[in-house]
Amino acid sequence: MATRKLYEKNTYLFTTQATILSTRIDVASKLWVIFDQTIFYPQGGGQPSDSGFIVQNDTASPVLAARMNYETRQVEHHIDAKSDVVVGQIVTMEIDKEKRLLHSRLHSAGHLLDYAIDLLRIPLVGVKGYHFPEKPFVEYQAADGQNISELATPLALSELKSRMMSKCQELIKFALSITTEEIDPRNIEEPLRSKIPAKAFESDVVRLIKFDGSKEPGPCGGTHVSNTSEIGPSFSIDQITFKKGIVRILYNL
Ligand SMILES: [Zn+2]
Repeated sequence: MATRKLYEKNTYLFTTQATILSTRIDVASKLWVIFDQTIFYPQGGGQPSDSGFIVQNDTASPVLAARMNYETRQVEHHIDAKSDVVVGQIVTMEIDKEKRLLHSRLHSAGHLLDYAIDLLRIPLVGVKGYHFPEKPFVEYQAADGQNISELATPLALSELKSRMMSKCQELIKFALSITTEEIDPRNIEEPLRSKIPAKAFESDVVRLIKFDGSKEPGPCGGTHVSNTSEIGPSFSIDQITFKKGIVRILYNL
């Protein structure tokens, strides 16, 4: 049975109850536990996993990491091996709230950069996002048939940085809502269709993130804050580099 992914529905659900479905000790003596549902985000899509605790019989056991098993569509939780976990038991899950909020702000900030690029009509398409607290960045390449060689000067990159920065600050100030929806990939048409990774079409649903006012949603499985103001006024673009056809925007909060 696929795990019910509560983190996809509500970023701000920091505690819930769940039933243990199975437990397994791997070759490295790590304990992995599967529940019927979870609030722990499994690392993926450029976002690190949540950490926290499961509480049972007044005993809290640390949840060190979570990962998605794409074959079974179950979230596997790495739990301290000393924990006494029993199949069928109901536990209380608690995630590290500060970490969840930071990861969500970082991830939303990465997509904010995508939105700013769309609004400024810069002919770039996203190829990679890394939304970890240490040196987060997003990478872009030229959109189909576009020439971006004029970006290859320090002056052009510094102009791009200041245009991007003021657009992002404006979007943060507007407190635009950020929403997600799930749709059947067969119903997705161009130009969005070519933005969706091929793997996503094997699934029954594709999750999309959308900023209020944007025409184009983008595919994303991460957790997000509910509006752009939560990204916060400390958002900054640290550096933009252009190497081997890839524009990398390093940002921070
Ligand atoms: Zn994303």
